[in-house]
Amino acid sequence: MALHKGAGDDRRLTVGPFLGTAADPLGSMELAPPLHRLADGPVPADTAYQLIHDELMLDGNARLNLATFVSTSMEDQATRLMTECLDKNMIDKDEYPQTAELERRCVAILAHLWHAPDPDTAVGCSTTGSSEACMLAGLALKRRWIRRNADRYAAGARPNLVMGVNVQVCWEKFCVFWEVEARTAPMDGERFHLGPEQAVALCDENTIGVVGVLGSTFDGSYEPVAEICAALDDLQQRTGLDVPVHVDGASGGMIAPFLDEHLVWDFRLPRVASVNTSGHKYGLVYPGVGWALWRDREALPEELVFKVNYLGGEMPTFALNFSRPGAEVIAQYYVFLRLGRAGFRAVQGACREVAGYLAEGIERLGGFRLLTRGDQLPVFAFTTTDEVPFDVFDVSRRLRERGWQVPAYTFPANREDLAVLRVVCRNGFSRDLADLLLGDLARLLPELRRQPVPLKDLGVPARTGFHH
Ligand SMILES: *Cc1c(COP(=O)(O)O)cnc(C)c1O
Repeated sequence: MALHKGAGDDRRLTVGPFLGTAADPLGSMELAPPLHRLADGPVPADTAYQLIHDELMLDGNARLNLATFVSTSMEDQATRLMTECLDKNMIDKDEYPQTAELERRCVAILAHLWHAPDPDTAVGCSTTGSSEACMLAGLALKRRWIRRNADRYAAGARPNLVMGVNVQVCWEKFCVFWEVEARTAPMDGERFHLGPEQAVALCDENTIGVVGVLGSTFDGSYEPVAEICAALDDLQQRTGLDVPVHVDGASGGMIAPFLDEHLVWDFRLPRVASVNTSGHKYGLVYPGVGWALWRDREALPEELVFKVNYLGGEMPTFALNFSRPGAEVIAQYYVFLRLGRAGFRAVQGACREVAGYLAEGIERLGGFRLLTRGDQLPVFAFTTTDEVPFDVFDVSRRLRERGWQVPAYTFPANREDLAVLRVVCRNGFSRDLADLLLGDLARLLPELRRQPVPLKDLGVPARTGFHH
């Protein structure tokens, strides 16, 4: 968290006399800029670079990070384009009309991919990521509900949003920030995400929408969006309640269109009002881009849309930010252009194949039980079997010794008894790397088996990994 307290900390950076671009055997030792205050004067550019560069060596090796969904590699040509566009402000449509045009093409491409009824007039926008996209989609749902229920809202009715307890934290944020009651369906037994019956049971006249997740960050599974929609169709027939659905396709929105073409989860379902995805996850772009699309103009209340200057005219925008970098949007267009459908199918297919291969390999090692197999998102979760003397936190800690980041964490209600490890296979995580991971695990297992009990039973605190 960046809310650090800075007061009273007098630590300073130190410059080595004879190492790196800032080397200056006689002069540089006098430089010692403070960490938490502005120094009185400037530091030479090379010295500033060296100091920060050296400090950042402590950050992990992103390619060995199996915890994150976010892209950790792009082609040189994409990086070059991004560097060329670092100074472009996405909001300045008048100054950068062609960047705005590439954004619109990306929206149209996604609208086609997700089967919008009329892709060429689809409404959508780029965002900083899925979190912002989910905020916007949630706001649209809330505003539509207020329009339909103006009297009851004025009389104090409180809107609610229905979802599984496995939703990503952005949905809890949405509910807190915009004062919507979060109605979450707990997990139950081997059901680790939202099902149609649970969704319908939580809906009432104050429900602004149901969130379906494609797929769950906890275990990589797809929620049954079509079944949830069918159950809501049935609810409407019985009660007249018409509850729209938003699909959080942060990851799956860029997987299912290429690998599960026959799975119906998108705008083919009339009840799906909006969809989001993270361009920087399986959209294969570096961090900083997401997308939100609405099925048609009716799904996005116009009072939420603002206008900015564009080539002497006006262009609608929907965003929480104002200024924002354009480079990521340009990089997204690069990836779309570069890969095409077949390219995406190959890249995502390779990830899923590696995920399945690794899951099976881990199952064969013994001592582990798979909860998912990487055959939906290229992501799987597994736990330890009852007869071994170590737990998932021990495995995570030991893998870290070799540089692998495989997070371990406990499931939410009502499966707090279950702790898992999760592996996210991304572009660049090859079968070779999977074999290296399997080899390291196989080498560790005999040692882990010699532990008397899981370390947390000896009072060693379990380190819960980042897993969103
Ligand atoms: C990652 C993720 C988010 C948040 O997306 P960001 O792009 O990181 O803001 C939301 N929902 C799901 C299902 C996710 O996997």
